[in-house]
Amino acid sequence: MSVSDRALAIAARVETFVRDVVIPYEQDPRRDHHGAPTDDLVMEMRERARAAGVLTPHVLESGGHLTQRETAVVLIKSGLSPLGPLACNTMAPDEGNIYLLGKVGSPDLKQRFLTPLVEGRARSAFFMTEPAAEGGAGSDPSMMQTTCRRDGNHWVVNGRKAFITGAEGAKVGIVMAKSTEADSAGGACMFLVDLPDPAIRIEHVPNTIDSSMPGGHATVAIDDLRIPADQMLGEAGEGFQYAQIRLSPARLSHCMRWLGCCIRAHEIAVDYANRRMAFGKTLIDHEGVGFMLAENRIDLKQAELMIDWCAGVLDTGSLGTVESSMAKVAVSEALMRIADRCVQVMGGTGVTDQTVVEQIFREVRAFRIYDGPTEVHKWSLAKKIRREWRAEHGH
Ligand SMILES: Cc1cc2nc3c(=O)[nH]c(=O)nc-3n(C[C@H](O)[C@H](O)[C@H](O)COP(=O)(O)OP(=O)(O)OC[C@H]3O[C@@H](n4cnc5c(N)ncnc54)[C@H](O)[C@@H]3O)c2cc1C
Repeated sequence: MSVSDRALAIAARVETFVRDVVIPYEQDPRRDHHGAPTDDLVMEMRERARAAGVLTPHVLESGGHLTQRETAVVLIKSGLSPLGPLACNTMAPDEGNIYLLGKVGSPDLKQRFLTPLVEGRARSAFFMTEPAAEGGAGSDPSMMQTTCRRDGNHWVVNGRKAFITGAEGAKVGIVMAKSTEADSAGGACMFLVDLPDPAIRIEHVPNTIDSSMPGGHATVAIDDLRIPADQMLGEAGEGFQYAQIRLSPARLSHCMRWLGCCIRAHEIAVDYANRRMAFGKTLIDHEGVGFMLAENRIDLKQAELMIDWCAGVLDTGSLGTVESSMAKVAVSEALMRIADRCVQVMGGTGVTDQTVVEQIFREVRAFRIYDGPTEVHKWSLAKKIRREWRAEHGH
């Protein structure tokens, strides 16, 4: 990667902060029922990030944003611990929400909702997915059942949402609903809302395989939520379009953070394999183990290159929908292989919470599903390949 000196300097500061300050917090017992760090712990780490000058490091003082290629070198470093993105305010879903608000929000909406997020004073949640059991939006967002209708100067939203990361404890919500109004019927709308709101009720926070995201992934009921019309993000009926603006960079930033985590898991596995003896020699001298570490090195490099390639495409101003699909599949699948090999190299220790490797393995498993499951990305790529072939052959 060749990126700007400013990004390399920020990345170096972030790495020092994560290694020296954040990693010791991995032993801190302050966790919520979901196993994620409590807000109290997050705010304490953020104070230290602020003091170290690494809070929200991808957003510049001018309000601008690092380029995607620059963001990559910074977010990879913030990901060296699962706590790093929380401490540095580079975490999901806030990072994606900050990006979207920066692109589409009006000056008033930015002042009210974006500023507290950038300053790391508030968390946000993105409400798109709906319960599978009720036939709601999942892999296919067009199945959205949550509705919105106009009522004077307000919109009224009704529906249920599922897997809403961080809804519990968030101060800002971006809620998606399908319009029932004639001029935007069937199109989606996005609204900014203050949370908590009595009309958005958290029904349930399921236990999930991952445990890095404060508040977990809630199922919520939205009953007659009244939102002033000026809290609509952008235009009525354009919500799916805005989701696309958010989706590619958000997918890619997940790749960046989890790559950082897998770099760390690999470091721990390498250390184990160089110290641990079996059958008269260190593990790394057993070809089976050495090969696993070599394959990790190759997968790590491929993941880095895919991220850099896709980031370069986004930096041209392209939505990068196809490229981010390809990168998301390649990186999430590579990271799963890496995390699995790290666990294997470390034997029984690999499945215990004595190291962070076990958590990283769980986290990247979930990443193969959110922001589009692998199969959905491959399916849409296959459709594109078919379209191209048909166009070329006149079918
Ligand atoms: C940890 C986590 C955090 C999340 N956070 C949020 C959040 O903050 N906000 C939010 O709105 N959503 C969130 N989600 C939801 C996430 O975006 C959905 O889980 C995802 O879109 C898949 O939808 P689904 O779970 O309904 O799976 P389904 O739509 O039921 O799909 C199940 C499986 O079917 C297969 N499949 C589906 N379509 C195809 C196809 N065309 N071809 C081949 N196979 C296919 C895939 O293997 C897929 O995994 C989160 C999910 C998780 C796991």
